[in-house]
Amino acid sequence: MNPNQNTKPQGQYGIIGWPLGHSKSPLLHNWGLKECGLPGVYVPWPTEPAKLKAFVAEARARKIRGVSVTIPHKQAVIPFLDGVTDRAKAVGAVNTLFWREGRLLGDNTDVAGIVAPLAPHREALASALVLGAGGAARAACFALKELGVADLAVSNRTQAKAEALARDFGIGAVPWEARTARAWTLIVNATPLGLKGGDEDASPWPQDGFGGVSLVFDMVYNPVRTRLIQDAQAAGVACISGLNMFLHQGLAQFELWTGRKLDEKRARQLLMADMTLTGA
Ligand code: NAP
Repeated sequence: MNPNQNTKPQGQYGIIGWPLGHSKSPLLHNWGLKECGLPGVYVPWPTEPAKLKAFVAEARARKIRGVSVTIPHKQAVIPFLDGVTDRAKAVGAVNTLFWREGRLLGDNTDVAGIVAPLAPHREALASALVLGAGGAARAACFALKELGVADLAVSNRTQAKAEALARDFGIGAVPWEARTARAWTLIVNATPLGLKGGDEDASPWPQDGFGGVSLVFDMVYNPVRTRLIQDAQAAGVACISGLNMFLHQGLAQFELWTGRKLDEKRARQLLMADMTLTGA
């Protein structure tokens, strides 16, 4: 994909993934650029895996100012960069490309997307179980360790992947079938279960399994009220929607690229209004 396509010559930003599908990132970042009076535009660049290396070369040549990276490029892009932040290295995945002192670097702002909404809920962080063992689950484990969660474990459909992640982070791996066997104060869904257009009616957690749970963090944000969130709320459990994660990872990206902080409340309103319009 030509990174110059659909863009003005200055201040180019965008998102790469394959297939890219519908992303809310252009909405957020184009609004942010306008809010700050910065020249530039943020566009989708659907990029198939075989063209990733060429994309990064072209992004360098054209001095693309910032790139959001999504599935399936979050790990694959790392060898083409000049370096990654300690955070991205620990997570093993990059979701943001940015420039520092002439070097094209990778960071992982998914971590900020998880830390920011959880930070006000310290009382719910006594213990946590992360469901899933992909890139988002790795970001969750890093974030939860950063938040000081000592009693932390992961559970995944494919046990070998849970064990590999658990080894990397020095935490426990709970067999998928045993995920409700003990009480966890926080449950984090880092699987696509509940996602619109896929397993929308599915939940990674049984309806009758919320005993002892005081907070649910669902990374899925479309729909905003997933099956998991509906079930948790019906059981009286507080919930954080994936829209909060999306918002905070995006605000952190914008700040990395521009040095500017966007107004969180107004950015949330923008995303919520769009979700209402699109029926999420
Ligand atoms: P990923 O690397 O593909 O990992 C997906 C994980 O979900 C794997 O561990 C997989 O288990 C598990 N899984 C998939 N289908 C399942 C099923 N039917 N039942 C049980 N487990 C299943 O994906 P990712 O990048 O980590 O993303 C995970 C989710 O987080 C996605 O829904 C994504 O949209 C969301 N996310 C949200 C944000 C946000 O800003 N809100 C940011 C990043 C990601 P196996 O190992 O067995 O295949």
